[in-house]
Amino acid sequence: TASIAAYPMEAPASQALLDRALAVTPGGVNSPVRAFRAVGGTPRFMVSGHGPYLRDADGREYVDLVCSWGPMILGHAHPAVLEAVTTAAGRGFSFGTPSENEVALAEEIVARVEPVEQVRLVSSGTEATMSAIRLARGFTGRSVIVKFAGCYHGHVDSLLAAAGSGVATFALPDSAGVPKEMAAETIVLPYNDLAALEAAFAERGQEIAAVITEASPGNMGVVPPAPGFTEGLRRVTTEHGALLVSDEVMTGFRCSAAGWYGLEGPYAAGAPDLFTFGKVMGGGFPAAAFGGRADVMAMLAPLGPVYQAGTLSGNPVATAAGLATLQHCTPEVYDRLTTVADTLTAALGDELGKAGVPHVIQRAGSMFSVFFREGAVVNYDDAKDQHVPAFAAFFHSMLSQGVHLPPSAFEAWFLSAAHDDAAVDRVLAALPAAASEAAA
Ligand code: PLP
Repeated sequence: TASIAAYPMEAPASQALLDRALAVTPGGVNSPVRAFRAVGGTPRFMVSGHGPYLRDADGREYVDLVCSWGPMILGHAHPAVLEAVTTAAGRGFSFGTPSENEVALAEEIVARVEPVEQVRLVSSGTEATMSAIRLARGFTGRSVIVKFAGCYHGHVDSLLAAAGSGVATFALPDSAGVPKEMAAETIVLPYNDLAALEAAFAERGQEIAAVITEASPGNMGVVPPAPGFTEGLRRVTTEHGALLVSDEVMTGFRCSAAGWYGLEGPYAAGAPDLFTFGKVMGGGFPAAAFGGRADVMAMLAPLGPVYQAGTLSGNPVATAAGLATLQHCTPEVYDRLTTVADTLTAALGDELGKAGVPHVIQRAGSMFSVFFREGAVVNYDDAKDQHVPAFAAFFHSMLSQGVHLPPSAFEAWFLSAAHDDAAVDRVLAALPAAASEAAA
């Protein structure tokens, strides 16, 4: 069995950095979930990452099951990606002109995801969904957007209604600062409920520009679409002349080489019109994209009337990282992710079962999460109906044993192909004590 580290709850070096950060940054963090508010304690300030491991400011090593919330599918500082990045950086950091890596990355995406004919590169998933929404509105001449409760699409004004991720973690119904008029253009429906969708379209179908959905939601925990749900989205949107936007920022190039679409598609009712990507395709750097049907994409400036731009869009270093990452996402990588997910979900279920902790583990490809409740979770109401304090106890036990989990009960766990048997064994060794803590 692997040796288990026993780290104290106190993390003095991280705490000193947090104290400095609190003076100059709201909450001490640049993205809310990093603050550990949902689980308590001191967020660990990381100083380095190699393969499946992160090292914090106190010199403690963790098996990383966050993987930067998805991008690090090959593990940290993968040698081939590192080489691509340093080579690109040596040639200059940003040109403000077109460059070859942008073309190569776009080609790579178009080659992988069959319905995607053209893409536009941006710098974050938020920009990708924001731009996709604007494009759908411009293309249809309509303004209403349908989204699903518990789906997070970044911090776009019109999509911050009943969103998952940090919004779920902090139980915010939506965000202050979003004009009422903006929220009024968004219809929020329960996930996996086609009847609700049909009712909304029956009432306001002529006003609806698009339905946006996480291809397989991961931001309320992992809640895959019920069989036929995505088909239903496509059928209803087509009937009413609305676009379907599949947000694959999290699932893209992670669930398979072609993302969630590669696992569930093609759909008999037709493909989504637009897709959004991020995370893996940037390899840990700020690169994201939206794309899809060529006739819809042709509405974008400079060809069409929908404006969209970015000083750092298609940045040569970011695109080099993304390209190298995608090129190394071989079938062996996806096999390894599946094997690790199989091993971890089986052991997690066993240990929680032995400890008598009510739980359900849900999966979408190699993405998974555990809900501390009985019974399947099909929507956001279900996801919220879990014993969150059990998660906090579980989380801190894992952390003290050198396993870095997402600090929230509403997030997927992320794996990398660098999670070798030694790293997996360390997670397995930590599970029994964490399960007992969750039972306490
Ligand atoms: N869409 C989905 C499905 C996401 O999971 C995220 C981020 O977690 C986003 C959009 C926003 O991406 P970013 O954080 O890069 O702005």
